Amino acid sequence: MGFIVTSSGERSWKGNEPGVVCFVPGFAHINHQKAGVYCLAFELRLLPLDKEVEDNTDANMEGALIARDRVGVQDFVLLDSHTSETSFLNNLRKRYQENLIYTYIGTLLVSVNPYKELDIYTVTQMQLYRGVNFFELPPHLYAIADNAYRVMCSEYNNHFILISGESGAGKTEASKKILQYYAVTCPTTEQLQIVRDRLLLSNPVLEAFGNAKTLRNDNSSRFGKYMDIQFDFKGAPVGGHILSYLIEKSRVVHQNHGERNFHIFYQLLEGGDKDLLCWLGLERNPQKYAYLIQGRCAKVFSINDKNDWKIVRKAFSIIDFTEKDLEHLFGIVASVLHLGNIQFEEDSNGHAIIRNGTQIKWISKVSLTSQVLSPLNVDLAFYARDAVAKAIYGRTFTWLVNKINGSLANKDSTRKTVIGLLDIYGFEVLDTNSFEQFCINYCNEKLQQLLIEMTLKAEQEEYELEGIEWEPIPYFNNKIICDLVEQKHKGIISILDEECLRPGEATDLSFLEKLEEKVGDHAHFVTRKLADQKTRKSIDWVDFRLLHYAGEVTYCAVGFLEKNNDLLYRNLKEVRVKKGMLFLYVATQFKNSLMSLIEILMSKEPSYVRCIKPNENKEPGKFDDFLIRHQVKYLGLMEHLRVRRAGFAYRRKYELFLQRYKSLCPATWPHWHGPAAEGVERLIKHIGYKPEEYKLGRTKIFIRFPKTLFATEDAFEFR
Ligand code: ADP
Ligand code: MG
Repeated sequence: MGFIVTSSGERSWKGNEPGVVCFVPGFAHINHQKAGVYCLAFELRLLPLDKEVEDNTDANMEGALIARDRVGVQDFVLLDSHTSETSFLNNLRKRYQENLIYTYIGTLLVSVNPYKELDIYTVTQMQLYRGVNFFELPPHLYAIADNAYRVMCSEYNNHFILISGESGAGKTEASKKILQYYAVTCPTTEQLQIVRDRLLLSNPVLEAFGNAKTLRNDNSSRFGKYMDIQFDFKGAPVGGHILSYLIEKSRVVHQNHGERNFHIFYQLLEGGDKDLLCWLGLERNPQKYAYLIQGRCAKVFSINDKNDWKIVRKAFSIIDFTEKDLEHLFGIVASVLHLGNIQFEEDSNGHAIIRNGTQIKWISKVSLTSQVLSPLNVDLAFYARDAVAKAIYGRTFTWLVNKINGSLANKDSTRKTVIGLLDIYGFEVLDTNSFEQFCINYCNEKLQQLLIEMTLKAEQEEYELEGIEWEPIPYFNNKIICDLVEQKHKGIISILDEECLRPGEATDLSFLEKLEEKVGDHAHFVTRKLADQKTRKSIDWVDFRLLHYAGEVTYCAVGFLEKNNDLLYRNLKEVRVKKGMLFLYVATQFKNSLMSLIEILMSKEPSYVRCIKPNENKEPGKFDDFLIRHQVKYLGLMEHLRVRRAGFAYRRKYELFLQRYKSLCPATWPHWHGPAAEGVERLIKHIGYKPEEYKLGRTKIFIRFPKTLFATEDAFEFR
């Protein structure tokens, strides 16, 4: 017996059994055989079929298998049991070359940035994935989105989708696509349209103020973002809430070569109408503004600032910003540009005086409410000018997020469920790593810990529930690194704070010495003094090195104290804050916000999307092995795969398993009338499962190795 493969890719039974159509072509909806082990089924059928199989000869079966060889497996769990990084990479490459950018590891989705438009995000595609079980269709973001949504609706619980990866890997695009998926596929009413529009349009506004062109990404998010989408009991999106993390303020006053300031500045100049610019005292040419031209690329081929300005303006009106709000907002944007053009010179006392009063006049007109006179030398005056610009921008961003939250807030008090989307900076290793990279990489340590804990926890809970004996598998628990960074009194952040409490005395070097003294014997910490004992790699005397879970990173301690202090902010706070109230330094604030984020996430059901950047040149189709191998490593993908495999690779409800494979055993075919569990027992005995290959739980069969299931699947197919 074999299969008939029709030209459309359908298969039906051949021979004299009742004709049942089993499978449909590559990317179509499945109506039959819901009970199957889809992930396996699709490897053999759906993916290849749309390309390879044309008629009804046995050769086509071979064709399908060859095709599978060509396009790889859609779930890494199905790779040979001793999965190496190389075979992992081979599979990813095969798929990428076929434009199959998504691959699962169990329920985690790995995505490789295609750097070209693919025809897989259409409304038709969205509808295809709607309400369909996870493994029934090829891996897709929509499957992840739909799965979270369906479980939320049926179990009435909260979810989050964590999207991680390095800059340019496709996180923000992924989060937007998920949001669009909900906007298109969820039920809505006319009344709720406005909520939907606001949810969608919060993106261009936040991107205008929070994204910039960098060397790695023309639309790089310079802040971390967590967005809750709230749903009512009918599953309609009814509100939202955004938390933002660590906006990169330093970009306002300084950009590296080939990079830009935040988009909004260029959008305003390019797109703002004449009257507005005139009122703000701005000229259209970005070259006139010191803060806009340090990277020497005010114009970017891939960015249409004029058009983006229109989108942002429209978004503002939908999100309910009044003309007055916008006047203030653009006034502030303009005043930052004016600030950047202020020049100082020295008077006869060595004090800085402003060379030209025009900028101050404009600033006073459009935004400043009070002025402070303070004698500074020229260097300090420039420093203070930049500090003010950064502080103003940082606060404006916070204000903007609050304002958007006000417009997304759902005021009725009925209970809602949420799906949270986390689009957060990935692990970052630059040529020189500073305080910002330290915070970002610490954040990634925390999220990695969350992933490991939640993955293992979920596995263990299921085994417990099913009464399956389970031997915990060894894995690297990065808690030790999190502790090194965050422990009270002992961790790096505490030590940094302590040094910040000694103004005038402490320096970046004294901070480094304190680190050596207090965490010098920690296995994941190295400085020059300690380098010989721990590692032979050289290290500069102002540097310290952390052995992160994702690899070693050398941080330059210069600037840590200043950045943690955020001096201007602190001075302003000290003026206002009552005595005795504790001031929190930047790293501690960040740590606290991360802790509460983790708490928020821990209370929800997780889904993960791991994004990979295929090359450094934003080039479609180019799969840079070295770069990708590195990301596979630090995204913890092999580890995740190991966790998935160490337990039982597959589990299926008895009913579903029996339904699919009952034809393999005379006792269960065509009908089994007893309890499903017994039927399955008979079935697997008949086909010869060895005891070490499976376990029987309360409601499910657990299969340890993918190859066991493969063999069963093959038997089922080739009968
Ligand atoms: P990240 O947020 O991880 O830094 P982005 O999501 O901004 O990266 O993606 C960077 C760029 O890569 C996008 O501007 C877009 O050009 C391209 N890109 C990302 N994901 C996709 C996708 N799924 N399809 C097509 N292009 C994509
Ligand atoms: Mg981004």
